[in-house]
Amino acid sequence: MRLILLGPPGSGKGTQAQRLVQRYGIVQLSTGEMLRAAVAAQTPVGIKAKDIMAAGGLVPDEIVIGIISDRIDQPDAKNGFILDGFPRTVPQAQALDELLKKKHLKLDAVVELRVNESALLQRVETRAAETRARGEEVRVDDTPEVLTKRLASYRSLTEPLIHYYSERRKLLTVDGMMTIEHVTREINRILAAIGAVEARAAAKAGAAKAAKKAANKPVKTARKGLKASRKSAKSAKAAGKAAKPVPGGAKRPLRKAPARAAAKTGKAAKKVTKKRAKA
Ligand code: AMP
Repeated sequence: MRLILLGPPGSGKGTQAQRLVQRYGIVQLSTGEMLRAAVAAQTPVGIKAKDIMAAGGLVPDEIVIGIISDRIDQPDAKNGFILDGFPRTVPQAQALDELLKKKHLKLDAVVELRVNESALLQRVETRAAETRARGEEVRVDDTPEVLTKRLASYRSLTEPLIHYYSERRKLLTVDGMMTIEHVTREINRILAAIGAVEARAAAKAGAAKAAKKAANKPVKTARKGLKASRKSAKSAKAAGKAAKPVPGGAKRPLRKAPARAAAKTGKAAKKVTKKRAKA
């Protein structure tokens, strides 16, 4: 599975990417993380990027495109990856399209985490406080002043990607204002609905998690856990059926407009699944 996570700073891309990594055994490719590592190691790229990053600007396209191209070729990315923080501009998205085409790889979906801008400052402040509490160094760009700049850059340069991927029928929008748990569940659900992940595998992971939780609890609760894992497997089966190709249809018949619309509202997504099941 190959995904892009799209959203402004503080929208939860990193958190959700980590959860997807654990669940599907794919790697998270965060250009921000890679650049921070390059800055810390004082590599030539890091030296170029350091001041730009500290000021909340964007590192030149050729640098980030080069980093991503090399990283995608690494053996651990063969199973799939989540791009977090890349692409950030339309030219980067076009370069990624080219790059994937050359490497004969296909992008499954772009998941947009939609959040209220007013909540972002608070989120970034919380992230900084938590980092400090762990005794780790706080990001130099996690300050209100720099965040304002990063948000402005997101609005003018990155937001056009919503239209870019929507036109290419890749965009899935999730309400990023829900709890972390809810957002994760919603992402997993829509990925299963469009057939990007094996619904059964998605549910198996859910079932295994429930069983593990149950194993650590007293008998009464453990039963509940088992019940939950059965329920989870059952719903996966249904989703699996729904995700199967329809006779005479394309492999993912409802991937186009309905899938996109479905991603925008949870209710609509459920309808799509039902429709598919009928088909
Ligand atoms: P992030 O961790 O994604 O918030 O990125 C931190 C900083 O790294 C950004 O504010 C940019 O300065 C730089 N950066 C990360 N990804 C990109 C990218 N795709 N294009 C340009 N600059 C980037």
